[in-house]
Amino acid sequence: MPKLNETHDASLTSWVDSANEPGADFPVQNLPFGVYTDPQTGKGKVGIAIGDMILDVTAARAKGVIGGVADDAAGACAGDTLNGLMAMGGRHWSVLRAAASKALRYDTEEGEAAEALAGEILVAQADVTMRLPAQIGDYTDFYASIFHATNVGMMLRPDNPLMPNYKHIPIAYHGRASSIVVSGESCKRPVGQTKAPDADVPSFGPSMAFDYETEIAFYVGPGNPLGQPVSIDEAEDHIFGLSILNDWSARDIQAWEYQPLGPFLAKSFASHVSPWVVTMEALAPFRSGAYQRPDGDPTPLPYLSSDANEAEGGFDVQIEVSIASEKMRDEGAAPEVLAVTNMQNLYWTIFQMLTHHTSNGCNLRPGDMMGTGTISGQTDDALGSILEITKRGTNPITLPTGEERKFLGDGDELIMRAWCERDGARGIGFGECRAVIEGA
Ligand code: MN
Repeated sequence: MPKLNETHDASLTSWVDSANEPGADFPVQNLPFGVYTDPQTGKGKVGIAIGDMILDVTAARAKGVIGGVADDAAGACAGDTLNGLMAMGGRHWSVLRAAASKALRYDTEEGEAAEALAGEILVAQADVTMRLPAQIGDYTDFYASIFHATNVGMMLRPDNPLMPNYKHIPIAYHGRASSIVVSGESCKRPVGQTKAPDADVPSFGPSMAFDYETEIAFYVGPGNPLGQPVSIDEAEDHIFGLSILNDWSARDIQAWEYQPLGPFLAKSFASHVSPWVVTMEALAPFRSGAYQRPDGDPTPLPYLSSDANEAEGGFDVQIEVSIASEKMRDEGAAPEVLAVTNMQNLYWTIFQMLTHHTSNGCNLRPGDMMGTGTISGQTDDALGSILEITKRGTNPITLPTGEERKFLGDGDELIMRAWCERDGARGIGFGECRAVIEGA
């Protein structure tokens, strides 16, 4: 686990005033990485979020604001993705974070020098559009919340909700990397083949059971060569950071296609991610133990077990999902909160997921993305999909406008936010992952 250091000090403030506001997602203790489109050149640039601004890493390096031991890492940010930086590993990430922290702090010489160059090294988040943070070569989606797996299993197999393998092996499917898009882009309702339970034959048309999945994504840092598994003790060195993930799902397409090989077109039409990647080091104050398995649950096999994973493999990340229909937005109604859940509801840690993924020798590459699977909690206000909230449409929800939803409607906007809070630490946020659903 990354150690706490001076960059985590809760008393630090920034000369970028918006970073110091209570509840700000991007205080100087966070420093997440992302890629934005430079309005001048139209090209992608790597930046670090600070308050409502972005530090242009390449400009900061050119002006000498970031340099010295951090020069190599800053140089790896010269392209239009984070892949180069991700490939470098934790020592480089850490020196770059330390340099950015010093440059953006209120009380340092470096900060004073940087503030004098503010006009040349900062851009306003409001003035740019964000891009995908990495070129994502592969995307794998897990199924790691035992509450979600149980809830969904109950609908499909009431007498046997959890499959016998669930507590032994992290379950996943290979997702589609090409259709991962960034927050702010719309999501088109997919068309596909479905078969209603009472129909004799399948039909083809727009999904009538369109759903979201509340997840956290993690990005691979340094990869592993083909044939060389990553051990549970090394797993942490291979993860760059976390983002919010909405893994859209067409439940009617899924129900008809998923046996025997798993999800396919029900998932591959789009997945949305939040643009900022919160680094493992920024998350250090918010680590927790792995999921406490009740007595009687099997102990994971040795290749998925370690004392460190047990003690600090978890993350205390809160995730909130809200919805705003087109009518709600027209009437100026605030988005309606559908759920608040937490990463601690994951039965498997992200380290167990990564280790398991490579256990057969499968090679991961810098920028690969993995999803945790829908994160549902134990209570009705912590369900990570509308499938679970409406019990597969049998128990519709009513929006403030009086509109009913069994599943998502055209024009609905889904907004996911995530944040970390802990006594003694400065809270940090992930920003948001939002998208409006367009008709098929
Ligand atoms: Mn999913």
